[in-house]
Amino acid sequence: MIRGISLLSGGLDSMLAICMLREQGIEMEGVVFKSPFFGTASAEKAARQLGVKLHILDFSDEILGLVRHPPHGFGGAMNPCIDCHAAMIRCAGEFMRAGGYDFVSTGEVLNQRPMSQNRKSLETVAEASGLKGLLLRPLSAQLLDPTTPELDGRIDRTRLGAISGRNRQPQRELVRRYGLTEYPSPAGGCLLTEKGFCRKLKDLFDHTAGIPPLADVELMKFSRQFRLPDGGRIIVGRNRLDNQTLKGLQKEGRLILHTVNIPGPTAAVIGTIPETDLQRAAAIIADYGDKGALTDIIVRILPPQGEAYEITVKPLSRDTYQPWML
Ligand code: SF4
Repeated sequence: MIRGISLLSGGLDSMLAICMLREQGIEMEGVVFKSPFFGTASAEKAARQLGVKLHILDFSDEILGLVRHPPHGFGGAMNPCIDCHAAMIRCAGEFMRAGGYDFVSTGEVLNQRPMSQNRKSLETVAEASGLKGLLLRPLSAQLLDPTTPELDGRIDRTRLGAISGRNRQPQRELVRRYGLTEYPSPAGGCLLTEKGFCRKLKDLFDHTAGIPPLADVELMKFSRQFRLPDGGRIIVGRNRLDNQTLKGLQKEGRLILHTVNIPGPTAAVIGTIPETDLQRAAAIIADYGDKGALTDIIVRILPPQGEAYEITVKPLSRDTYQPWML
């Protein structure tokens, strides 16, 4: 019995790759990667629909290292796709060897993406990942060099696909053949391709030596953030849920601020903050608060250690702090 492990993102092509291999009696399991930038929900849903076992591997260290030093550079935002993809395949290869599987498969389609899925890129990834001969792309297999299990007859090459390019008609036919009822659109869902998120992330990387702590990276998901003139970085809550979550960060050793004599947002500091910027942070949340005609706003400071204290500030004008927004 031959057993394979397939990269299962939850996208249609990754599902079809598994269906095509199982059609000839091959035992397949899926593997998916998680990190602060992408989750596993689509893959878990797809695995349930296919009835395959899914292995979730933590990819956070690898992807943070690649965002810091992407050997092949970034795509349109901070997405090191070429290196990320190669690293995922390399990790899947390690998982294959450790688990005694016979090969790795992916849902890649030849020439679907001109840069990353042309013949040369597919070959480069197979070689760079150390999986040459053991990396199968079932949907395009008949157009690519045969892999070891095809050559030794354990996989019937004539029953694999010959799909090339961006036309999705062959996939639609396979969907009918395999009776798939639900599948997501091909769009990614990776935060590293989102420019708004990447503005905050880039600022964090620019102000951190080496790799930023995972907890700080997670905070980049809050939308309202500022880099203040003397280097302090703050998050300002946009709604009740944000404010509650930010307050809870005091337990993680972060400095928190909130308004006292008016309803207003909570703010949390990332890293340390000079006194000048602490005053500015207080004046920003004072301006966001429901202040009416009040000009003296009391702000409570909750340091990670020691006693809470209060300061009184005048709201800063939006024109002043807008340029500090990330
Ligand atoms: S979109 Fe994100 S997860 Fe996908 S290859 Fe690029 S960096 Fe990696």
